[in-house]
Amino acid sequence: MRDKLPKFPPIDDLWKLLRFESENGQIWLAEERMILFRSSEMRALRREMIESLGLERAKGLLTRMGYIAGQKDADTAKKLRPDTSFFEVFSVGPQSHMLTGQAKVIPISIELDEHKEHFHGVFEWENSFEAEVFLAEYGVSADPVCWSQIGYASGYTTRFIGRQVLFRELSCAGCGDKRCRIEGRLADEWPDAEDLLQYYQPNRIADLLLELQSQVVCLRETVSEEKGFGDMVGSSENFLRVRDLLVRAASSKVTVMLLGETGVGKDLFAKALHEASPRSDKPFVAVNCAAIPKDLIEAELFGVKKGAFTGADQSRLGRFERADGGTLFLDEVGELSARAQGVLLRVLQDGELERVGGGRTRQVDVRLVAATNQNLEQAVEEGRFRSDLLYRLNVYTVVVPPLRERIDDIADLAKYFTNKYSSLHGKQVDGISDKAMFLLRSYQWPGNIRELANVIERGIILAEQGGSIEAAHLFPNVDEPIISPSAAGPANLSISGAMSMASVVDQLLDEGCSLEQLEETFITRALGKADGNVTRAAKILGLSRATLDYRLRKSRIPVGNRKGRPSS
Ligand SMILES: [Zn+2]
Repeated sequence: MRDKLPKFPPIDDLWKLLRFESENGQIWLAEERMILFRSSEMRALRREMIESLGLERAKGLLTRMGYIAGQKDADTAKKLRPDTSFFEVFSVGPQSHMLTGQAKVIPISIELDEHKEHFHGVFEWENSFEAEVFLAEYGVSADPVCWSQIGYASGYTTRFIGRQVLFRELSCAGCGDKRCRIEGRLADEWPDAEDLLQYYQPNRIADLLLELQSQVVCLRETVSEEKGFGDMVGSSENFLRVRDLLVRAASSKVTVMLLGETGVGKDLFAKALHEASPRSDKPFVAVNCAAIPKDLIEAELFGVKKGAFTGADQSRLGRFERADGGTLFLDEVGELSARAQGVLLRVLQDGELERVGGGRTRQVDVRLVAATNQNLEQAVEEGRFRSDLLYRLNVYTVVVPPLRERIDDIADLAKYFTNKYSSLHGKQVDGISDKAMFLLRSYQWPGNIRELANVIERGIILAEQGGSIEAAHLFPNVDEPIISPSAAGPANLSISGAMSMASVVDQLLDEGCSLEQLEETFITRALGKADGNVTRAAKILGLSRATLDYRLRKSRIPVGNRKGRPSS
């Protein structure tokens, strides 16, 4: 039998996936972070588990631990040896088992029929670490003891062939046998599959908590009540501070001003504030002042009387009236025209408004939440914003921190977006790899939560069905090794920044793009992002309005792409 199977192929490719980055305190196997355990630690852990949970539960836990590792390696296997024989690809599992020091694996026989309706595999283990650990602690066992290794073999083969496979030990060094001998079959091919499968059911541990269950449920409700704040996700100190400030403001009608960079989710905080307030059953109306042309903003906010101007062929409600009884969220409030600022001030002072074109004054009861990423004090100094309006808005100011100051929320947020986009794109993914998560936590996120959402969505699209989201799916331009020793620390990583910029520029140069073309493309795209508003486009490009005006005059960009104030 033994000579029926070839030897394992060379293991070099697998070795190359194993990287020791001691300067970063990390070990990697492909995308997975690894840890070097001492077997004495495993021995102590096993003893504690057996003593506190009982033998059967400890066996179940360790079996499932191995099962997870096996599944991960099956994903690696197919990528590592894509165009080789079944045996060579399959060997990645046993070889990884050897590489990680669990046992020496000797293949005896392996059969898989074409339609995957029959699987049979027999292997032997020498030097099983689990047998060794068990023997040292308890002496010879009556039953086989290589639980996590059996879990590994089952998890690996199940994932590998796509059908539930279960392995068992026919003999075990822990029982005094010379070697462990294991046999695997499809679950339906074992007569006692149910007995074997019980170790793979994760809920077995839960019965320990049965008597505590009601208390757990109670606790969970209290916690979710405390933590629930609209759709907001987070538990970092900075997030909780903002949440608490908003919760305190929710019950009153105080005007709230949200400050913070673009993409930090000011709109979501405003919505959550509304939902936490007594007005939650009334409308929440959001207006992005920068997205509405200056000459229309007044009509948009305060409504129009029929005949007020050409095109106003009927009276129309403004957003203020629509939000009556509820909350109005004015995003980018610094972009309001001088006239609109004046009217807004009156509405805030008197609680009544008049539609554009006149007519009777109307009472409105609106809770205002304003937001900006501008420095409004500076805008006041420069005469672009009314100081009396600023005082009205600045009653209760809350600064929403950028994502880089909420690193501890990244795992929760990433999970939230993973769920959201995997259902949106109809793709099941098995979480985010350790390496990818490390990069997510290391990146600076200039585009904040919005950028994180985009990155995760891209990851979902690129990940394989049923596989995990890997580093390259999130940051396609990252070269290996991702973390160079020269990086002074995670905070200095800028992945999609520096690296993708270089590769984008290379590509443009290869395509013969000139500097002039590049500049025009940049300006056109920025104008597009700013809805044609030249002042905002200048800000996006990091230029002054005058400089952008000058470059526009020099360029061939059609005038129709530009809107906004005439330059003065
Ligand atoms: Zn064994």
